[in-house]
Amino acid sequence: MRGMAGSRTYRTCAIVLDKTKLKETDLILTLLARDGREIRAVAKGARKPGSRLAARCELFCTVDLLLAKGRSLDVVSQADLVGAPLGAAPTYEAMQRASVIAEVASLCCFEDATDPFVFSISAKALRVLGSLQGDCPHMDLLVAAYVFKLLSHVGYRPDLSSCVACGDPALAFFSASAGGLLCSSCASSVAGAEAVDAEAVNWLRALLPLTFDELVLQHVDTGTSNLLLALSHAWAATHLDARLRAMEFLLGR
Ligand SMILES: [Zn+2]
Repeated sequence: MRGMAGSRTYRTCAIVLDKTKLKETDLILTLLARDGREIRAVAKGARKPGSRLAARCELFCTVDLLLAKGRSLDVVSQADLVGAPLGAAPTYEAMQRASVIAEVASLCCFEDATDPFVFSISAKALRVLGSLQGDCPHMDLLVAAYVFKLLSHVGYRPDLSSCVACGDPALAFFSASAGGLLCSSCASSVAGAEAVDAEAVNWLRALLPLTFDELVLQHVDTGTSNLLLALSHAWAATHLDARLRAMEFLLGR
């Protein structure tokens, strides 16, 4: 059945979201394919010293892959580096934020569902992140915007127009479980609602319509970017119903 071999392989471009060790020398790659599917594949021998496969499948890079269909996991037969958005020597700060982007991306992609937007927004966020080496407030602003944009795309868009409970335009709290902004009186009966001032409300409203490139040109201070990051964490953890360990680590929790 030699002729069948061709149908068992396929080529795709993908972002490397995660790498975990398998056996002595292998790696399992979690990949976000260009069509938005999640692929889990084995890179055999990738942990042997001097493995070319490992060098071409670095975290957060875009790779062109030839994969062989396997029974449970696919197998990487060839890999070519297409893009290293964080550059050849990424800073620790950039790697931390990229880990959060990859973590949220992996919760929003599935083996059996295509959604090219997930690939394109993740690739774009990583590229812009790579241009911000060392600029932590803008990196956090970018991550917060990425989380709210992607979550909105997959069906969890915050209501930022008026109080989600009563429609009052005077807004003073944000609650992920309530679905967005709240007035003071409604917030008093919502556990875990976070106080937000008028500036934070304006920032939240800017995250969805502005592009990443536009956002990183805005002036933002560390307090504001920390708050937006924390709110994006609450939003993602609540609506994806998952623990976000890289995000918790970035927030110092
Ligand atoms: Zn209200």
